[in-house]
Amino acid sequence: MTTQAYYLPKSVDEAVGLLAEHGPSLLVMAGGTIAMPLINDGISFPERVMGLRRAGLDSISRSNGHHAIGATVTLSRMLTWDEIPLLQKAAHNVGGWAIRNMATVGGNLFAPPPSGDFAVALLALDAQVVLTSAAGQRVVPLNDFYTGFMTTVVQPGELVSEIRVPVPAGQTAYLKFARRETNTPSIVTVAALITLDGQRVSDARLALNGVGPHPFRARRAESRLIGSVLDEAAIAHAGELAAEASDPMDDAVASAWYRRKMIPVMVRRALAQIVAKEASDGI
Ligand SMILES: Cc1cc2nc3c(=O)[nH]c(=O)nc-3n(C[C@H](O)[C@H](O)[C@H](O)COP(=O)(O)OP(=O)(O)OC[C@H]3O[C@@H](n4cnc5c(N)ncnc54)[C@H](O)[C@@H]3O)c2cc1C
Repeated sequence: MTTQAYYLPKSVDEAVGLLAEHGPSLLVMAGGTIAMPLINDGISFPERVMGLRRAGLDSISRSNGHHAIGATVTLSRMLTWDEIPLLQKAAHNVGGWAIRNMATVGGNLFAPPPSGDFAVALLALDAQVVLTSAAGQRVVPLNDFYTGFMTTVVQPGELVSEIRVPVPAGQTAYLKFARRETNTPSIVTVAALITLDGQRVSDARLALNGVGPHPFRARRAESRLIGSVLDEAAIAHAGELAAEASDPMDDAVASAWYRRKMIPVMVRRALAQIVAKEASDGI
């Protein structure tokens, strides 16, 4: 079967109207860096395709203590947006230039593992996902967005229209460990945000990618850090707890065993960066 129709809605209302009309026979396409290869390789046969690039979802604004990032903002655009350096760093770590010019923030939420190198930074920032349908809008914490391997809370008829990111306080770090420096799948990616109250951690967010069915927060590791001094013992223990929370897979890039082994190493490196930043800010 070949694709029968391609739609380019000029607004979100038009887009969700088309979704309501055609149901699951309509494939949503943002940058197409995941969707198009599946079609070209004959793995996916959508009856209808809807491109989002003219739907007006490509703006970034700030209100009420959060940044609102449109779902079709590209990762190249995120490289030049300097309000949240963690997101710049994350964007830099997705694919190469050609991919980032097309790939979108919203599309990264749906990327199959070990992709999700931008979503993992959004998780560490406590982002929320705005889902829009013909019936209205609902807002879901990104932490509750994933329900399993390539499954999410998105219902038929819903689109991701915006990602809301609270203006962050605290120090952040982002490290992607992979076979090469750039344009390479993740073995382990760590995004961390730590807030200190004096010497002690008052808030800790530790998000991991590449080591589970989707990006996730290592909650027990975070709890271990909160209330502690960010010393070697606390960091090492948090790394072990993060590894325990993981569910890595074997693939052509790395074995599950190796991925799990690298988690404490990468958590330690990420938190060491934060300790160093704190020390230099304190001088
Ligand atoms: C060579 C190559 C290298 C890559 N490297 C990386 C990497 O290093 N790290 C990484 O994380 N990813 C990587 N990717 C995967 C991918 O490019 C990114 O994850 C990208 O952000 C996906 O966004 P997109 O807009 O292109 O998604 P699309 O292909 O347009 O869509 C992907 C899926 O999400 C759904 N979707 C998209 N937007 C919405 C929306 N707003 N609402 C509802 N559903 C939606 C689509 O229906 C589709 O099922 C790579 C891909 C390639 C081809």
